[in-house]
Parts: sequence; C-alpha cells; structure tokens
Amino acid sequence: MFAKQKTPYDVIFQAYFENLRKFSDRKKILTKLEKLFVACNENNFILSENSILELQKLLNFSGFTFSDSLVNNNGCCNKCGQKLKKLELIEDEFENLKKQFFEEVIIGKNIFNKTNPAELSEFQEFLKSTKGYNVVIDGLNVAYIAGTKQSPEVYSTLLAKVVSHFVEENKKVIVLGRKHMKSWPQKQWRFISSNALVFLTQNISLDDPYLLYCALHCGKDAILVSRDLMRSHLFALKDPKNKIRFTRWLEQRQFQVTHVRNDGKVLFKNPRPYTRIVQHDNNNWHIPFIVAPEENEEPDKIPEKWLCMQKS
Ligand SMILES: [Zn+2]
Repeated sequence: MFAKQKTPYDVIFQAYFENLRKFSDRKKILTKLEKLFVACNENNFILSENSILELQKLLNFSGFTFSDSLVNNNGCCNKCGQKLKKLELIEDEFENLKKQFFEEVIIGKNIFNKTNPAELSEFQEFLKSTKGYNVVIDGLNVAYIAGTKQSPEVYSTLLAKVVSHFVEENKKVIVLGRKHMKSWPQKQWRFISSNALVFLTQNISLDDPYLLYCALHCGKDAILVSRDLMRSHLFALKDPKNKIRFTRWLEQRQFQVTHVRNDGKVLFKNPRPYTRIVQHDNNNWHIPFIVAPEENEEPDKIPEKWLCMQKS
C-alpha cells in the first residue's frame, strides 16, 4: 500500500497485531513487529491511538516493556530519558527534492494555469540575487497574525518587527508578498524593503509554491517563516520519497510566529528538535501516535503522545 501511495486503514494494523498474538514464538513476533516498524519509519507513517491500543495487547505477550510517554522540549522521552533522533536530509536528497519541486510544483501542470509565465521568469531572475540569504518570510501570513481585520498600519508594523528580529540576528532576509503591499504606510514599507530582499507576486497569484521554492533555493539550512502548513503541495510531487523528504524538510525548517509583543519581541513556535517518526535506538523503540481530538479541542493543543518500548 505504501508503494502505491495508499494510506493503510487502522483495521489493517489492528488485524496484523491481532494475528501476531496467535504466535507463541516471541522471537517471531518481535521480527514481524520490527518489520512493520521499519516500514512505518521508511514511509513516515504515524499510527492511530486505536492501533496502538491493539499493539499494546500484543506487547503484553511479546517480551517488550512499554508505556505511554511524552517528549520534552529538548526531544527526550520522559519515560526512558532517551534523546530522540532528528533525521535530516542528506545533500543529494535535498538537491533532488529542490529540482523535482521546481519541475512538478512550480512548472507542473497542476499549477500552470495559475502561474503567469512572465511572473515565473521574473521570479527566476529574482532567485539569482538570493545568494547568501537564509530567512524567507511569508509576508502576508506574518502580517495577518493579529487577524485579517486590522489596518495596513498594523500589518506593516508586524511584518517590519519580524524582519527587524532577524536582521538583528545578522540574518539575511527575503520577504515574499503581493503587489498591494506597496500601498502600505511608507515608513514601514521603506523599512521592510530596505532591510529585506522583496519579491511581490500579482495579487491573484498562488504564491505558496514560490515561497517554498525560494526557501529550498536558499539551501538546506535556510528557514521559512509562515504559519501556513502548506502540506497541500505534497500532492503535486510524484515520487513518494520526495513527499516524505518535503514533509521532513518543512517540519525542520518552518518557524511559526505566534506573537509579536509591543516592545518588538517576536515569539515563535520553533520546529521540533527531533523527528516525529517511528524510531529505533539500542534496545528501544519509540512510536509516535495520533490522538483524536475531543469535541471542541483544537488539534494543535493536543499533547504529542508516544509509546516507549524496551526489549526485555
Ligand atoms: Zn522512551
């Protein structure tokens, strides 16, 4: 199913675990379980809470000790104390992703109808001037963090403060936005455009692909500042491996502005210092799982849960 880019349903995992309970040979159970975990790791697949409950029933027979766990801000499991791994793209994987993203998402026929060819060549010309830049800001997204019913004065002030935050850290900043931003109050707009390299698309263009590609173009260590998740662009990538690489890259390089204080201090939700993926180290397996939100619960407020397992 992974090879055919299909998402296996919960019941498939549950049936697999249920079936393994029929084996009396613990070693065989272990081998088959680990085979599944490796497949989840390689395909970036996260099990549901229901599947984990079924897995726990099996683990009672399998010689694993296990418990639910949370991971702290430093990326350590709060049950066994182990630091979880961060899986970064290697240079070749990154270069391949960048190339395919351009061909399939920017040029690809899904978006072609919405991409203006003149704008695209203007963008390619712009990219030539971005050498050495390492922060790419989604201009309007940052401007709208206090909502979309504010004045241009508020939008431009917020964006100027975020630009200023990075400039003070000696970063070289790019802002992508839309043409109408030029009519913002001149004082703030002058600050933004003199402290950042700016590229503005037509007001109706689909600008996410440009933003993502610009960040990829700036290199493996550049960061992208936006609160949008932008996962929808995954679908335009053909190679399943590139979908996984894209998700992994975005998870590690995306900073979300949560608040800008009146004194100009900018608060961020930083990327996790580890990869949320089934992982193995020494005798331990750590399995992240998805907990369904309670009614009225906001999905991003749910603590991220893991199953911490040790071979005994
Ligand atoms: Zn642990």
